[in-house]
Amino acid sequence: MKVRLYEIFTSIEGEGILYGTKTLFVRLAGCPFKCFYCDTKEALSMTSGREYTIEEAKKLIENNLVKNTYKVNFTGGDPLVQSEAVSELAKFVQQKKIPTYLESSCFDSVKFEQVLPYFDYIKIEFKTLDSEFVNKKHYSTLLENELQCLKLAANSGKTTYIKIVVSSRTTLEQFKQILTSIFDMARYKVAGFIIQPTYGIEEPDLKQLLAFYDAVYTYYEGVRIIPQLHKFIGAP
Ligand code: SF4
Repeated sequence: MKVRLYEIFTSIEGEGILYGTKTLFVRLAGCPFKCFYCDTKEALSMTSGREYTIEEAKKLIENNLVKNTYKVNFTGGDPLVQSEAVSELAKFVQQKKIPTYLESSCFDSVKFEQVLPYFDYIKIEFKTLDSEFVNKKHYSTLLENELQCLKLAANSGKTTYIKIVVSSRTTLEQFKQILTSIFDMARYKVAGFIIQPTYGIEEPDLKQLLAFYDAVYTYYEGVRIIPQLHKFIGAP
């Protein structure tokens, strides 16, 4: 089996519930989607980065693991695109007793279920329609997959949290529709709900952010608005 990696590096986690932790990032190549705010466009192509055998990739991870690494973050691209290889690599990291962390848009619940056993932390990123991730025709299928992934992750007992990126384009109405799907159908135990404003492109204003916050707060008081902190210190 082969895997295509765009890059591997140690930095500070700048997003989500574990921000501030020293993290080894394993960035997989490949994502077929088109979010307008994507900040890793160079890793979207399946020809980006370099191909490795699984054994070579394990060695690469081992050689890049430094002292006091809190977790290994599998990111992308979208790691689900190479789900089999990601399972192998995450299993390898778990055997080293280092927590594994999955960042995904959760577009495919079948692939997600395959990788789930090898992850300790799961970030489920719900995409808004205005993100341009997919077109309107395919949006309901995406949402169904994301919801199924949330159900699988929460029921597995893994530390699971939700993230939604919002921009000046995001309407309160469509944001509330996602919340209805998440919270009205079932209440899952989640470790956090992060609203992440876009950075440097069509940024939402404070009024919008507070309205999004209030909408989530009705269901979940642990909601937090957290920008991508690593960008403020120039970290990758
Ligand atoms: S899902 Fe992630 S990697 Fe893919 S286009 Fe959107 S932001 Fe970029």
